[in-house]
Amino acid sequence: MPEKQKINILWFTKDLRTRDSESLYNIMQEGLPFLAVYIFDDRDFGKMQFGSRKTGKYRARFLLETVEDLKGNLNRKNIPFLIKKGSTGNVFKELSDEFDIVKIFCQQEWTREEKEKEDEIRNVLPTAGWERSYSQFLVHPLFVSRTMDKIPMLFTAFRQKVEKNLLIRPEFASENLMYNKCGIKVQGDEVTLRSLGYADFKTDTRTAFPFSGGQTQALKRLEFYFSETRNLSSYKETRNGLVGNDYSSKFSAWLANGSLSAVTVYHEIKKYEQEFGSNESTYWLVFELLWRDFFRYVSMEYKDLIFRKNGISKKEYLSEDHEELIRQWKEGTTDSDFINANMLELKNTGWMSNRGRQNVASYFCRILKQDWRIGAAYFEELLIDYDVHSNYGNWMYLAGVGNDSRDRIFNPEKQAEMYDPNHEFTELWLHK
Ligand SMILES: Cc1cc2nc3c(=O)[nH]c(=O)nc-3n(C[C@H](O)[C@H](O)[C@H](O)COP(=O)(O)OP(=O)(O)OC[C@H]3O[C@@H](n4cnc5c(N)ncnc54)[C@H](O)[C@@H]3O)c2cc1C
Repeated sequence: MPEKQKINILWFTKDLRTRDSESLYNIMQEGLPFLAVYIFDDRDFGKMQFGSRKTGKYRARFLLETVEDLKGNLNRKNIPFLIKKGSTGNVFKELSDEFDIVKIFCQQEWTREEKEKEDEIRNVLPTAGWERSYSQFLVHPLFVSRTMDKIPMLFTAFRQKVEKNLLIRPEFASENLMYNKCGIKVQGDEVTLRSLGYADFKTDTRTAFPFSGGQTQALKRLEFYFSETRNLSSYKETRNGLVGNDYSSKFSAWLANGSLSAVTVYHEIKKYEQEFGSNESTYWLVFELLWRDFFRYVSMEYKDLIFRKNGISKKEYLSEDHEELIRQWKEGTTDSDFINANMLELKNTGWMSNRGRQNVASYFCRILKQDWRIGAAYFEELLIDYDVHSNYGNWMYLAGVGNDSRDRIFNPEKQAEMYDPNHEFTELWLHK
């Protein structure tokens, strides 16, 4: 039998970018040829507990656009890219039949389903080496572990410790590298919205998130929000908005699938501050990125507890099981116009503002008293920017079983008066 070619694999998961890509940078330093791989794993598109689908049509389309953009960016660097649909284990099995896979470069993950995929690969490639990077964080775990022994329960304690002598790594210089080894020929799959099991659909013209997936669009948005419009300088005043594209950065969906790096955003904020001046708003975007990091550290620390009904606090969460109330919440037909408008926005666009998310989650947990995980699973299906850490972390928080023990209940009518005084938002979703 002829000897199999030795190669490394760059396994893309939630780090779908070429700029500031630690894995891409590292694999380029090795002597071996390599193949970049992305797998649309069937399990990510199936049904989950509580009846929701794991990925809804909005995020599925965004992901397809993201992978297409990544393909273009890798092509320009002459990097061979294999796109497959199926199970992660099977794809790696097929690859190992053809190649001698020496090392796999990927992002380090720790949540249940992500670890299961890794286990499948390990089963078919027991001797391959692994090189993992923590490229999803703003503040690197090494810095955090040097700064604190344990992740504090409260965000403020975490933030204050991190902000003392904060050191953010520079971006990895992966964007300008060119691949000059001979190309590996492989046959990929043509993956479309239809082949993933969704019908084509039109974007609702009322959407507050009219953007496409991929690094190219992410960087355009960054430039628009920063230097082109200088919206960043008023972010703190506008961030609680409900209508339009620009009340907040809208970076979340790109950050969630890694087509935008939080470290890139940080350094662009610093550049912006040099040029246009710093203020509370420019600081506040970093503050919000620290919330994002915080929930990642929480899930790393508490593992599967973030999916349990009693959460990380292990405080008993009492819920009723009322299917009709849950249906009304999802359909936007509750007794609150403000809640309904937000839920209709989510259902029709895959987007909801942070203000809206806090209100509808609080309403679901505290007023309807339903199992918070049903609400979280519905968000998981619908949200374009779904991210396991931020979603389950925020839901636990609002359900009172997470990082805050205070019993905070939002009054939707008061919130509507404060944040939608002219009814512009409720009109948009309830009366058009
Ligand atoms: C119940 C609930 C569920 C949520 N689920 C998700 C989710 O699945 N994915 C997700 O990315 N965010 C989630 N969030 C957090 C937040 O609502 C969104 O990140 C934010 O609305 C996205 O809009 P933006 O990018 O314009 O945010 P901006 O206000 O511009 O903030 C900049 C970035 O900071 C981060 N950020 C801001 N607020 C939070 C927060 N509360 N928690 C964690 N990170 C934050 C995001 O990465 C965001 O892109 C959830 C919040 C709640 C209350």
